[in-house]
Amino acid sequence: MIPRSCDTMVALADATSTGDVIFAKNSDRPVDECQPLELHARQTHEDDAVTQCQFVSLPEAPVTYRHIGSRPYWCWGYEHGANEHQVVIGNEGLASRLPEASEPKLIGMEIIRLALERSRTASEAVDVITGLVTEYGQGKFANDAGVRTYDNGYIVADPREAFVIETGGHHWGVKRAERALGISNVYSIETDWETLSRGAAKHAREHGWPGARGRLNFADAFTKDSRDEGSGAMRRRRACAVLDARLGDVNARTMMSLLADHGDGKDPDEPFVVDADYGGGICIHPNPDGTGGSTAASIVSELCADGSRLAVHWCALYSPCLALFVPMFVEGELPDVLAIGGETSSEDSPWWTFHRLAAAVRVAPDGRAAAVREAWAPVQDALFVSAYEMAREGRRSIDDGRGDDANALLTRYMAENTATMLRVATDLLDWLDRQAA
Ligand SMILES: [Zn+2]
Repeated sequence: MIPRSCDTMVALADATSTGDVIFAKNSDRPVDECQPLELHARQTHEDDAVTQCQFVSLPEAPVTYRHIGSRPYWCWGYEHGANEHQVVIGNEGLASRLPEASEPKLIGMEIIRLALERSRTASEAVDVITGLVTEYGQGKFANDAGVRTYDNGYIVADPREAFVIETGGHHWGVKRAERALGISNVYSIETDWETLSRGAAKHAREHGWPGARGRLNFADAFTKDSRDEGSGAMRRRRACAVLDARLGDVNARTMMSLLADHGDGKDPDEPFVVDADYGGGICIHPNPDGTGGSTAASIVSELCADGSRLAVHWCALYSPCLALFVPMFVEGELPDVLAIGGETSSEDSPWWTFHRLAAAVRVAPDGRAAAVREAWAPVQDALFVSAYEMAREGRRSIDDGRGDDANALLTRYMAENTATMLRVATDLLDWLDRQAA
């Protein structure tokens, strides 16, 4: 069985060294499930337009906002993404006590895309998500398409605030995030919810679920699994401990290190674990025989509240401990090559290139992971210099009414960095091939 995993974190302005909100996510998926990165422009729609999701169709919004999304190749929705209003969203698989439904529902990833398309703030995204969950539902439902379905938890953030949303079927709870926190494959909204779906407390009471007396403990009531044991609980503890220890000092690099961390969570306060036998951690690797799950894509979003620069979305493909985080801007055109990739491995797909890189390291881990990281380090350092310059220059151009110039500048910048990333990755693959020979 493929484990249910993923980790999402957020640090609010008072928790970061820059005073900006920083959001992060590892998308963990089946080991060979390609997850390209793509951009969709803002669109206006006719009154009677319909959005066709995989199992459910719903009325289209008048306007869908420009956004980037990290999309499992078979799915309409995303594991994580960001839109033109600096709304960022990531989800987590959860296991509720609810039985499998027989009628079709929305998939958690589709809900992310719908919310990115329809929200200008995190608060609006909460309304969109809870509205969709109430009306159309999500969670475990039978389907003929072989789609693995599950309940979902989300973090939605904008430059000012962030919320955790956890769901069970058509029910949900919403908690306002404070300072910094991480969520994982474990319910975490206890009695500290701000809002609840109508009937959630009654449903829990009528079914005799734990936590239903007095103010509803949403997590205790809805969870099927232990909230203290298992990989999700360990990873969440680890993320929260790392962020708590760095309150006021969290930056993008902290989040990247956390996403690449191999600490198994037994000691959540230990320093970042870089080298590993890959037995645990927030950075998920496949089993030695190549089966199981793997981190498929990652994002670290640095939002900006004071209007001095654009949001920077650092995106990585496959194992974040072996990858480069490349700064992406919703205001430019993403390199088309990033959207290439399907069910089977192909040479022209950046995602599959990083898949091959991780596989080559896995079969011969002796020191090669370290060599890969060393190759990326100077490239990553250079990006940390140039990305903020671009973010400020792009902002200035847009504010001066030169949006086309900003678009051209950012498009060129993302294309150059993507080309560099692919060149280094190809060199590394050649080197690993020679090592293996
Ligand atoms: Zn790793």
